[in-house]
Amino acid sequence: MAERLLIRGGTVVDPARGVEAARDVLIEDGKIRDLAAGLSKKPGLQGVETIDASGLWVIPGLVDMHVHLREPGREGDETIATGTSAAARGGVTTVLAMANTEPVCDTPAQLRLLRAKADADAKVRVLFAGAVTVGQKGERLTEFARLKEAGAAALSDDGRPLMSAGLMRRALELARDQNLVVIDHCEDLTLSAGACANEGAPALRKGLKGAPWAAETVQVLRDIALAELTGARVHLAHLSAAASVEAVRAAKRRGAPVTAEACPHHFALSDDMIPGYDADWKMNPPLRSREDRAALVEGLADGTIDAIATDHAPHGCAAKAAGFDPAPFGVIGLETALAVSLTELYHKKALTRRELVARLCAAPAAILGLGDRGTLAPGVPADLTLVDPNAEWTPAAPYASKSRNTPFSGRRLKGRAARTLVGGRTVHAL
Ligand SMILES: [Zn+2]
Repeated sequence: MAERLLIRGGTVVDPARGVEAARDVLIEDGKIRDLAAGLSKKPGLQGVETIDASGLWVIPGLVDMHVHLREPGREGDETIATGTSAAARGGVTTVLAMANTEPVCDTPAQLRLLRAKADADAKVRVLFAGAVTVGQKGERLTEFARLKEAGAAALSDDGRPLMSAGLMRRALELARDQNLVVIDHCEDLTLSAGACANEGAPALRKGLKGAPWAAETVQVLRDIALAELTGARVHLAHLSAAASVEAVRAAKRRGAPVTAEACPHHFALSDDMIPGYDADWKMNPPLRSREDRAALVEGLADGTIDAIATDHAPHGCAAKAAGFDPAPFGVIGLETALAVSLTELYHKKALTRRELVARLCAAPAAILGLGDRGTLAPGVPADLTLVDPNAEWTPAAPYASKSRNTPFSGRRLKGRAARTLVGGRTVHAL
């Protein structure tokens, strides 16, 4: 007997298929079976277990292509179990875990170990990036073909920029042959050395060393050039500067094989908003100017920036209490990304509902080549999120994440995930 579940009365938003309408959704054995209006009234479906989605959006589960789960090596800050619990709470059903763990995920054996661990512990689907260079040292390339064979979903040295353009070129040529996207953390270390904030008036007033926007943009420009030279797919992580957005816009106009992401903290906050020396507002790249923030919103609106990703980066309280300069870079984001995106982009009318769902679900799935995610097409796994777009709430610790380093604590937000399903099973419900 097939296991069936009906989601009734919601508004399905599936940009990948151009659907934005009242639809009931029938799930059978963990997969989307059918979508239609009035499905719940069909004779054969009386008595099927039903979830009432009246007043809610029914969207594909979010795909967050930039997450740090800290396992192995720093399980005190986060684990696969707690990080994916945070994802479920935030409506995220697939995460891409970055390779900068301890040890770095740079061998097939390490990848297989992590995938087995995720199979046992994870609440949502976890994909893993393999490192581009051994130990993320920027010296010797890893074995891309073997990493792919072991299940690497992308290649990235995120956390560390690849400083050598020559090595980056070689990496792109080899990644292209494996049809793997390279996700680059764009930062020229010779411009950002010693910085803990954005170069500008707020940092100057506080006596903090800032990194200029150009530290990001020069490497964005380099990577665009290398993508065009090699024909390899390059994905630019966590864009923060207006000039970077403009560079990507121009590159896309030329047909360059580049995609880009922006993080909620960068499009919702700016450096003039940082309260005192609160290190829960410290991340890399740093919060930049109001103009940069506005450019990110514009880039998300016109599609220059394809995807929204969190760069979820858990750090313990003690490390973050060390002061703004000594504290580590990074903020958590899985539990607030959907809400911040709804508050800042949808409710402020910068993006339509359909555009927002495309940036959160369809685009990252497409960049990672996941044909069966980011959509609610019949036949795909029933990973979906029920969104209450108007629920007002205020994020506060404790979080599902083991860490609590977020600038959004105490900030009023509008909209959240009312329920999250992975393979037809509820992994979060309010
Ligand atoms: Zn990064």
